[in-house]
Amino acid sequence: MLDYDLHCHSIVSDGLLSPAEVVARAAERGVKFLALTDHDDTGGLAEAAAAAAQHGMQFINGVEISVSWRTHTLHIVGLHIDPVYAPLVEGLRMIRSGRGARAQLMAESLARSGIGGALEGAYRYVSNPGLIGRTHFARFLVESGHCKDVRSVFKNFLVKGKPGYVPHQWANLPDAISWIRGSGGVAVLAHPGRYTAGRKAMGQKTLRELLGEFVELGGQGIEVVSGSHTPEQYAEFARYAKEFGLLASCGSDFHGPGESYRDLGRLPDFPLDCHPVWQAWETAPIQP
Ligand code: AMP
Ligand code: MN
Ligand code: MN
Ligand code: MN
Repeated sequence: MLDYDLHCHSIVSDGLLSPAEVVARAAERGVKFLALTDHDDTGGLAEAAAAAAQHGMQFINGVEISVSWRTHTLHIVGLHIDPVYAPLVEGLRMIRSGRGARAQLMAESLARSGIGGALEGAYRYVSNPGLIGRTHFARFLVESGHCKDVRSVFKNFLVKGKPGYVPHQWANLPDAISWIRGSGGVAVLAHPGRYTAGRKAMGQKTLRELLGEFVELGGQGIEVVSGSHTPEQYAEFARYAKEFGLLASCGSDFHGPGESYRDLGRLPDFPLDCHPVWQAWETAPIQP
């Protein structure tokens, strides 16, 4: 079992717990090395770092950046970032700024399908006013009885071709990687299994093109063990890591008790021939 969890969320983005509560829960569950990776926002890192110090846990500054690449939305996790690095701060501010208008359009789309009050309903779940996202709408759709749980929302709403979906332009891949690398961080392709599954998924050829481009641009890691992956996908993405010379990362992608595929920590070991992403900062410590 791995005692690292390098991908999770707090109320600073679309999680349900405060940063300190995330840390406390991770500590209880045996995590020794934790990265908080809120979407497009580093506002929870100071609170989480202070809580981690109290629990005697190693804390790694993280972020999960939303990226548009070709017709796909990707998530790039930055680990060991410097949250005050100006281009990163400015870049994240820019991505966040589009979310309010997008939420308005999502609510209008839902209204056209007969679901009223979605904007106000979603905002009731938002703690960080600058960061409204699909998960907040999903919670509203469950609360209002339109879906039985958050997972089923993402089958029938808010995704391509369904009510509430609004296409959106996020950061581009070169920018996201350069903000992370420039701040001293390691760029990791999050949950690749999510891009190759389902409708409108990318094929293996496109995935290879993405990985080639990612490496070319300075990307160094890929999530192998992820709350979004099956055990077969751990093996599949371990093979891609090897082929493209990428370090392997692991994270639950925990959002909240009862809502996520996996709770914090207790992640299974990597397949044998993986090089863990923490080698990047153990061999070349990154200055805070
Ligand atoms: P956004 O950044 O507003 O597009 O929202 C993306 C978030 O929606 C992800 O980080 C997840 O928290 C959630 N999400 C997307 N797809 C799914 C899914 N299939 N099941 C559960 N949550 C999902
Ligand atoms: Mn999320
Ligand atoms: Mn993600
Ligand atoms: Mn995530």
